[in-house]
Amino acid sequence: MAGTRTFSIIKPDATERNLTGAINKVIEEGGLRIVAQRRIQMTQAQAERFYDIHKERPFFGELVEFMTSAPVVVQVLEGENAVVRYRDVMGATNPEEAADGTIRKLFAKSIGENSAHGSDSDDNAALEIAQFFSEADIVG
Ligand code: GDP
Repeated sequence: MAGTRTFSIIKPDATERNLTGAINKVIEEGGLRIVAQRRIQMTQAQAERFYDIHKERPFFGELVEFMTSAPVVVQVLEGENAVVRYRDVMGATNPEEAADGTIRKLFAKSIGENSAHGSDSDDNAALEIAQFFSEADIVG
């Protein structure tokens, strides 16, 4: 494996606006390789499990509704220090605070509809990847 892995989701606000390729370009130019990718319609159960850590937050219901509102693209990204690198490539959660050139600055509509998900630690990356991909799906 060339470096480490992180898990990414291109969120419904982006797939609806036909931005998958534009976001993948930013990912690749940011030094990450897309080593697995699948477009899916998330179920409510998948979204609730994925965001279980946020279930007590006031926006949980809205977040699950949003993530199931249109297809998403789930991805495994590989590169040097992939988790941290992809957080940099995505930018801050709130697009108003995101740095120029980041996915969220370029494309996000709001703090909720913010175009991309990226794991926040290596441990979570492994858990999130395993929720959507088997090792045989990942070709580096
Ligand atoms: P991330 O790691 O940058 O994605 O941010 P968090 O882990 O804090 O939040 C997870 C996701 O929940 C975000 O990416 C947003 O889609 C959503 N979210 C976070 N804060 C808010 C909020 O205040 N309102 C709404 N509607 N969604 C939020």
